[in-house]
Amino acid sequence: MSSIPQWPPELSTLQLESLTLLATTYALSHGLLYLPVASPQPPVPNSAIHAPLSLFPSPIPRKIFQKAKKLQSIYNVLYARVAMDTDFLDRIMGAEVGVGRVDEFVGRLWKGWKEIRDQGITQPLHLGLFRSDYLLHSPSPGEPVSLKQVEFNTISSSFGPLSQQTAALHSSTHYYHLSPYLKAENFPSNTTLSGLAAGLAEGHKAYGVPDARILFVVQDGERNVFDQRWLEYELLEKHSIHITRQTLSQLTTSASLDPTTSALIISSSTEISVVYFRAGYTPNDFTQPSHYDARFLLEKSRAIKCPSIPLQLAGGKKVQEVLAKPGVVEQFLKDQGQALIDEIRASWMGMWGLDDDDENLSSGDLVGDTTARRDPESEPAGLKRARDNHANLVLKPQREGGGNNVYKSSIPPFLDSLPPQERAAWIAMELIVPPQGLGNYLVRAGGGQAGAVKAEVVSELGIFGWALFGGEEKKVVKEVEAGWLVRTKGKDSDEGGVAAGFSVLDSIILV
Ligand code: ADP
Ligand code: MG
Ligand code: MG
Repeated sequence: MSSIPQWPPELSTLQLESLTLLATTYALSHGLLYLPVASPQPPVPNSAIHAPLSLFPSPIPRKIFQKAKKLQSIYNVLYARVAMDTDFLDRIMGAEVGVGRVDEFVGRLWKGWKEIRDQGITQPLHLGLFRSDYLLHSPSPGEPVSLKQVEFNTISSSFGPLSQQTAALHSSTHYYHLSPYLKAENFPSNTTLSGLAAGLAEGHKAYGVPDARILFVVQDGERNVFDQRWLEYELLEKHSIHITRQTLSQLTTSASLDPTTSALIISSSTEISVVYFRAGYTPNDFTQPSHYDARFLLEKSRAIKCPSIPLQLAGGKKVQEVLAKPGVVEQFLKDQGQALIDEIRASWMGMWGLDDDDENLSSGDLVGDTTARRDPESEPAGLKRARDNHANLVLKPQREGGGNNVYKSSIPPFLDSLPPQERAAWIAMELIVPPQGLGNYLVRAGGGQAGAVKAEVVSELGIFGWALFGGEEKKVVKEVEAGWLVRTKGKDSDEGGVAAGFSVLDSIILV
């Protein structure tokens, strides 16, 4: 990346104004949109704003991008296999011995799943629409930049369609004269919309009832509706599949099961082939106990769940951390060859559990500042290690959607206040150190700052993929790498997340 002398390209005030106008009007004309902040949302939206976006694509080394794409297949297989390993999930995420003991949300999902599987699973297939997220890691200027995984999402992996639109904006020829890097051969294609819709359509086909619909389970007051609508239109236009959108709250009264076939029926008439969750990843989506009942009714049904509860649990940060322990990922990928396993492992940062004792700590390179140690008698080694190395760490609970992590200097006071029984719900992860000195113009509409703001930035790459798996033979039926996403944030923001307000949508210029 040192070959990039300056990023973004230098712009005159006039160029900046005209490029901002080009980008925002392109976004508004091409459905690169968000609903505006409004409380409450009007029942029928009457306006939209452009999604937060960067003015320029961000540079990513070609080799690293290709590697991330290549790894997606093995990640698809890995997480499908984790989701099919009931004993492993019981041990790691369960409410008897795993994280579900101390994390109420995880425990509730696991208990619901356990009850359902004790009664007998009616649909052995699972569908996953995944997104594996990465940052570039550049711990010291001399060393080569490498690819490091932030997390692997198994539920509500969003921004596929909008990222495709952002890539289309950035690769438009309007940009070509602004930098020698901005030319066709440096823009990787991005067909996430068709890629993800194909996954949902494959699930629909496997269900085997052409007239059935796909159910989108959505949040009340969702602002990222256009990203979801694009998938709907694609499913309808390219696959002739109709969609029904419902919130968990609506489903408490609209959903029922056919008493003989366990088919999922909405409003007494519509059979559902695939349940696609764009809600239900956070306890905030379950404001009433009946919302859990609705979630479990869907799980119990013969519809294919995207994701099933076990697949949702497989996406927990605790699973990511346990996979990194010596010998664990190897058990899941025995048939994939050591070279690929080595590549997967090389994409991980050091991780451990706050409740880990000495034996369980995986080997990382952190050398603790032992002077900071307190009360060594009562603290597990994992917690001590987190306290000692807090400056280079992030702590993560079993949550999704951004804004849940604890970073660096906030870690010691957080650990002081964390009740001991809750330690098991958290993992510690070494901080990835992104390359310095890259800039971009961030453009946000509505509220806050209008217009383009120049900032030093960090970009997070996400690779989408999907897998249809399970069935009588408990195997991966089909898996595909399905496009990519870049989200970019100001370098001083710890968190990412577009929906959470930290990041903007971006795309890639290969260098
Ligand atoms: P969530 O499921 O809430 O998105 P993430 O694990 O993706 O949780 O963490 C949120 C954000 O925190 C990421 O988008 C990234 O910006 C930052 N982050 C997470 N892990 C690391 C890490 N190891 N190093 C640096 N930043 C991180
Ligand atoms: Mg996540
Ligand atoms: Mg994330």
